[in-house]
Amino acid sequence: MALGPDGAARTAGPGRSAGNHRVGVFGGTFDPVHVGHLAVAVNVGHALGLDRVLLVVAREPWQKVGTRPIAPGEDRFALVEAALEGLEDRRLEASRLELDRPGPSYMADTLAELSRRHPGVELFLIVGPEVADDLATWERPDEVCRLATLVVVTRPGVALLQPPPPPWRSMVVEVPALHVSSTELRARAAAGRPLDVLVPPGAVQEIRRRGLYAGCRDDRRWDDAGDGAG
Ligand code: ATP
Repeated sequence: MALGPDGAARTAGPGRSAGNHRVGVFGGTFDPVHVGHLAVAVNVGHALGLDRVLLVVAREPWQKVGTRPIAPGEDRFALVEAALEGLEDRRLEASRLELDRPGPSYMADTLAELSRRHPGVELFLIVGPEVADDLATWERPDEVCRLATLVVVTRPGVALLQPPPPPWRSMVVEVPALHVSSTELRARAAAGRPLDVLVPPGAVQEIRRRGLYAGCRDDRRWDDAGDGAG
C-alpha cells in the first residue's frame, strides 16, 4: 500500500516502495517548484530511510496570501507532478491534500488528516531553518508538535541557531546548498531568462504550456536591478 496524490491509500505500482510507515511531509507554495525543493525531499528521504516523501502543495499559503499574486493551486500542483517525472527516487509524490481542503492550508490539519487516514503512520515534517524559528506563529503548533517529528534542513556550513525546544521532537538533516528561489524564478520567467537546470525539465515545459509567470510583476525589483544573470 502507498499513498496516492490525495494522501489516500492506493496499490503500489512497479518500482514503488510497498512501505508506508515513515512518511515525510514537505509543505510549500511551490510557485514554482525548483531543484532546491527536490534536493531537500530526495536527501531527507534518503537520510531518514523514509517510505514516502509528500510534496504538499498549499492551496492557500496563509503566510503569503495578500503579499503577492500566487499561481493557481492546480497549476502549481501540475508543476510538481511534472518535476517528479524521470527522477530515480520514486518515493517522492505530489500531494493534493491541501488543494482539496477548503480554506487556509494549515499544517496541523494536514498532519491530522494523514494520521486519521493512516493509523500508525510516523510523520516527519520537513522545514527549512527559517521556518523552524517561526513555529510558535503557526496555527495550533501544539498539534503539529504532537503529530510529527520535525526535520530541520540545513546547508553545509550553516549552523542552526536554535533547535526547536522540547516538547518538539526534532532532528537536523544537511542537504546540498542550491541557491535558487521561487521568487527569483518568477522574475526570471517574467524577464524571459532561462529556467533550464534551475527547474526540472517537465516543470519548465508546464510553465511554458500554461503561460505561467510571463506577466509576473511582484518581483519587479529583480528586473529593475538588472542582475545580468542568464
Ligand atoms: P518564495 O521565494 O516564493 O517565497 P520558497 O521556495 O521560499 O518560495 P516555498 O515554495 O513555500 O517557498 O518553499 C517550501 C520549502 O522549501 C520551505 O521550507 C523553504 O524553506 C524550502 N526551500 C525553498 N528554497 C530552497 C532551497 N533553495 N534550498 C532548500 N530549501 C528551500
